[in-house]
Amino acid sequence: MGLSILFAEQKGERFTMAEGAEKTKSSKRKKIALDPKLAEYRGIWVFIEQEEGIAHPVSWELLGRARYLATTLEVEVAAVVFGESQEKVEKITAEALSYGADKVYQVVDPALCDYRSDPYTDCLVNLVRKYKPEILLLGATALSRDLASSVATLLETGLTADCTELSIDVESRSLEATRPTFGGSLLCTILTLNYRPQMATARPGVLPIPTAEPGRKGIVIREQMQIDEEKILTKVLSFIPEPYKTAEKLSTAEVVVGGGRGLKQPGHFALLRELADLLGGEVGGTRPVVQAGWLEAERQIGQTGKTIRPKIYIAVGISGAIQHRVGIEKAGMIVAINSDPNAPIFDYADIGIVGDFLEIIPALIRVLKKRQSTKTELHAKDKPFEIELK
Ligand SMILES: Cc1cc2nc3c(=O)[nH]c(=O)nc-3n(C[C@H](O)[C@H](O)[C@H](O)COP(=O)(O)OP(=O)(O)OC[C@H]3O[C@@H](n4cnc5c(N)ncnc54)[C@H](O)[C@@H]3O)c2cc1C
Repeated sequence: MGLSILFAEQKGERFTMAEGAEKTKSSKRKKIALDPKLAEYRGIWVFIEQEEGIAHPVSWELLGRARYLATTLEVEVAAVVFGESQEKVEKITAEALSYGADKVYQVVDPALCDYRSDPYTDCLVNLVRKYKPEILLLGATALSRDLASSVATLLETGLTADCTELSIDVESRSLEATRPTFGGSLLCTILTLNYRPQMATARPGVLPIPTAEPGRKGIVIREQMQIDEEKILTKVLSFIPEPYKTAEKLSTAEVVVGGGRGLKQPGHFALLRELADLLGGEVGGTRPVVQAGWLEAERQIGQTGKTIRPKIYIAVGISGAIQHRVGIEKAGMIVAINSDPNAPIFDYADIGIVGDFLEIIPALIRVLKKRQSTKTELHAKDKPFEIELK
């Protein structure tokens, strides 16, 4: 299959794992002449994930990254939009163009209403075979991970799942797809050198959404596919939308207050909720508290949970394990409250408060309430932020 070289990156060093952990620097890798068959593949595609006519934000994150990669490769960016009605597909097409796509490949068919592996896979595989993109990117969501794996299998190419970084190795024109591995203790950069397209899914929330340019124009290619509903084994009986889209709220919140095992009992999350509400934010937590049933699974932050990029992340009673860190390191500012001065979270927090959260959080809440009631500006420079511990 497509996996050619596996690099691991730790503390700035790179070494090949596939070749017996022999150390090598990326700059020393020899220039690889592309096989003429591979050179036929050109352009970067992003599959635009949509449900009920609404695109998943990860698609726009990917279009932003694709635009950056395309500049290095000097190629075009294309979006792929499937749907059951021309109207819905046109709406998403316009959005895709505004977020930076140069071209949009559309497939409209009633069978593409709700996501099902079979018709979506067939349509995407047929498009790839016809137009030959060099790189195909999808979101690392439940839907697109299912689609990506079946498409990669049929195309017999390499797929790197759940990437947190995507870049280009200029010498070989290869996609460098980086993802955490070995329980998050290593970051691996994986290249697909001898197969096309190079495929990757990227974790929602790790890449910024580019600024949209409404009205931006591009080329639209409408493709007809022969889809026989009779031959599709999966039938959707009903579609139940998520009643409360915690995942989305967490990834777009400007302030997130995260709780860990240091909270000692689930009832203490009420304090975190109160603080988050006062700051207009959301509550999240570590894996142990989710596993203990103190918090809904959708609120887990970290390697096996959500990646967030709030302006402020307040970590309360959280030790700061690497698996949690990967989910919060894109935050603008990390404030850590922990009673252990040697907790690893203090190695990367911007503001560290050593102490018992049961004293600090209520004191913070008191200050914020007082400021709200007197309508003073939280950020006013002449008013220092003082908290009084009782
Ligand atoms: C494959 C794999 C995937 C994982 N994925 C994730 C993931 O997605 N997200 C995640 O978070 N973890 C994940 N983990 C678990 C991770 O390794 C850590 O175990 C976890 O993050 C630790 O959670 P914690 O900080 O809540 O608990 P602990 O490590 O137990 O830390 C609790 C902290 O609270 C502090 N504390 C105690 N009392 C107080 C007090 N009164 N006031 C203030 N501070 C106090 C302690 O000093 C301590 O630092 C994963 C692990 C594996 C193996």
